[in-house]
Amino acid sequence: MPAFLITPVACQLWVGSAVVAALVLPVALDHRVGEGHTAHEPWTALAIVAASVVNVEIGRVLEGGAAFSQRPHKALSTWAFACAIVLSVGWLLPVVACCYAHARWRGLRVPLWKWVGSAAYVVLAGVAAAGVVHTVLGEESLTRGNGLCGMVAVLAGTAAFLAVQTVMFHGSAYLNEAGDETWLRRTLRQPTFYLTEVGVLLVGGLTAAVWIAAPWFLVLLLPVFVLAQRAALHEPLRQRAEHDDKTGLLRFEAWDRQARTAAARCSRHGRPWSVLFADLDHFKLFNDTWGHLAGDLALEAAAAVIRDELRDGDLVARFGGEEFCVFLPGTGLADGRALAERVRAAVAATDLPGTQGLTVSVGVATVEPGCDSSSGAGTGAPDLADVVRSADRALYAAKEGGRDTTRAHLAH
Ligand code: GH3
Ligand code: MG
Ligand code: MG
Repeated sequence: MPAFLITPVACQLWVGSAVVAALVLPVALDHRVGEGHTAHEPWTALAIVAASVVNVEIGRVLEGGAAFSQRPHKALSTWAFACAIVLSVGWLLPVVACCYAHARWRGLRVPLWKWVGSAAYVVLAGVAAAGVVHTVLGEESLTRGNGLCGMVAVLAGTAAFLAVQTVMFHGSAYLNEAGDETWLRRTLRQPTFYLTEVGVLLVGGLTAAVWIAAPWFLVLLLPVFVLAQRAALHEPLRQRAEHDDKTGLLRFEAWDRQARTAAARCSRHGRPWSVLFADLDHFKLFNDTWGHLAGDLALEAAAAVIRDELRDGDLVARFGGEEFCVFLPGTGLADGRALAERVRAAVAATDLPGTQGLTVSVGVATVEPGCDSSSGAGTGAPDLADVVRSADRALYAAKEGGRDTTRAHLAH
């Protein structure tokens, strides 16, 4: 795993400790070891792995057989949680290992060390959940009486599972380099991730209860698994719809929607905001000279360079072709001008192997608190489209000024 060895030491220690703990804890805490497992436990474990296999295969069919490079929910936690409830804790490791191995084989292309780390986090979350569930239940069965006690145990176990999983994944995401964890950091910031995860875990709890009460009823849960997989697909598909495939930046329509909300927020709080418009210089000539594939690589590199110059709350989109637009909340004229200059210098300094490199021209338009736009006159609320037009005019001034240069002005 060479990729693992070049991650920061803190990240290596985090993942390494998790893997060791996942190997040791389930065995160490398995009180029933030596007292004899019940004879049906291996069959139950097998059934859980089979359910995971079926679920992953359903997911593949729904995706059209495509292997998504990274998708947050193959619902693998479902089975770890079900296992934590119905089996002694020593089963977590083999069950999770089998479920993860199958899911990886069937298309989840994540670096091996991240996959192993993620399986270890799920085992640890399962250990915590098993502890909580069995403490709440005592000697009782999950489905005893009207099920109230079992339901409370499942809810408490879900909370424990989610808490451990969240802490472990945050450790991975923030101890590793930001550039290697863009996807995980973004995912962990989305409330929908936790909502889906709770849903996935509760399906695991329900599956466990059905298994204990009447295993044949699991057949009736199949449609629930299908719907859960369809629901889990929604977020990655939404992300793809909002982002440009080539550069990974927002598409203009999504940018426009988000920037309007952010602009209104700035205006309400009396903060300045700016729009930056950037256009690669002589890009047609670049394509004609070095080929369109080199052009695509240059486009990706320019997008990455621009993104690296921005703060978390800034919004950057590919406007179209070789043009980019950025919404900068809280950014006045001086800061906008400085940022434009940083973007220009960073693009010019970017090494594009096999070519002579690229330059960019940048225009910025700023709305200062209290300044009215032409169309917003009377309301005092500058319209985003007017400010984009104004940034575009600044960009043309930069082009006329000789390219590889910047212009910034107050929106007008
Ligand atoms: P200027 O400095 O005035 O902006 O000149 P320019 O050549 O960059 O501008 P022009 O509008 O004439 O050409 C833009 C070029 O961008 C033409 C098009 O082939 C290229 N382009 C647009 N989208 C892509 C893309 O996705 N990949 C590649 N390789 N080229 C693209
Ligand atoms: Mg252009
Ligand atoms: Mg251009």
